[in-house]
Amino acid sequence: MTEELATAIRAGDRRALARAVTLVESTRADHREQAEALVEALLPHTGHATRLGISGPPGAGKSTFIERFGLDGLSRGHTVAVLAVDPASKRGGGAILGDKTRMTELSRASGAFIRPSPGGDTMGGVARRTRETIVLCEAARFDTIIVETIGAGQSETTVAEMVDMFMLILPPAAGDELQGLKRGIVELADIVLINKADGEFLDHANRAAADYANALRLIRPRVAGWEPPVRAVSALTGTGVDAVWDDVVRFRRLLEANGAWSRRRAEQAKAALLAEIGEGLLAQFRAAPQVAARFPDIERAVIGGARTPADGARELLRSFVADQ
Ligand code: GDP
Repeated sequence: MTEELATAIRAGDRRALARAVTLVESTRADHREQAEALVEALLPHTGHATRLGISGPPGAGKSTFIERFGLDGLSRGHTVAVLAVDPASKRGGGAILGDKTRMTELSRASGAFIRPSPGGDTMGGVARRTRETIVLCEAARFDTIIVETIGAGQSETTVAEMVDMFMLILPPAAGDELQGLKRGIVELADIVLINKADGEFLDHANRAAADYANALRLIRPRVAGWEPPVRAVSALTGTGVDAVWDDVVRFRRLLEANGAWSRRRAEQAKAALLAEIGEGLLAQFRAAPQVAARFPDIERAVIGGARTPADGARELLRSFVADQ
């Protein structure tokens, strides 16, 4: 069954790909086993795509941009998969992209695959599912994988850790007017887009782009030889979107030439391994009978200030190790 599904995915069968993603998303133990076997079987056929993370505050125009950028990419001969990461969402599968009818044109295009975030999971669970879905999409021969973060929070850094290039999309406002955008996020960006550079927002967008360009010049670039471009674009009219594709191509070429591309991939793999260890340990820890028996008392003592968190954790960890 794994072999059949793997073959169908590699042949570009969209329904097989969608079925495999559903398998990866399932929390059932037998599904998990099948998903892992499938991902492992497909792993040797992956690694060629450009993994692009896209973040920004709600309303900045991420989905409008991705639709435009995706369609431009298709006309350039690319194949594009779009995955959404939304750990905060409690909505059921398919709802997020579905109820907003986002990216309608792109979702109908034959060279594109759009997968909504099932949501309602821990960040660790979401991260694993996204990493595995990237593998599936790459095996299905998509050459550009876009991972979009929906909703603010810890997801930006997690996504930045699993992609090759991290893109930030901002509305046409000055940095200090932006709500809910952490300063550190701007520093993670390999490219910053100020969207809505059209109509009455045009001047604002150009001014904001100049401000961000100045601010970014003061930060040491993450990649030697790459100064993150700051572009004013319009997802609505398409102005500037083509130049973003050029940036993506240029970025990849530069990183491949100076060795940073494979270093980033190695970092991604290392971060994923550590994340899996952390998740696995925590799950085992929570399930251990000795720990479960002592946890409520210790938690109460720590909340009440009778014990320090460090002391409480030490006792629990000791009983966890003794349990193994
Ligand atoms: P997201 O929450 O970041 O995904 O933002 P959306 O793509 O849903 O866009 C939020 C709103 O901004 C929608 O009403 C869009 O029509 C509008 N919008 C998006 N891009 C542009 C743009 O380039 N120019 C203008 N004027 N409006 C835009």
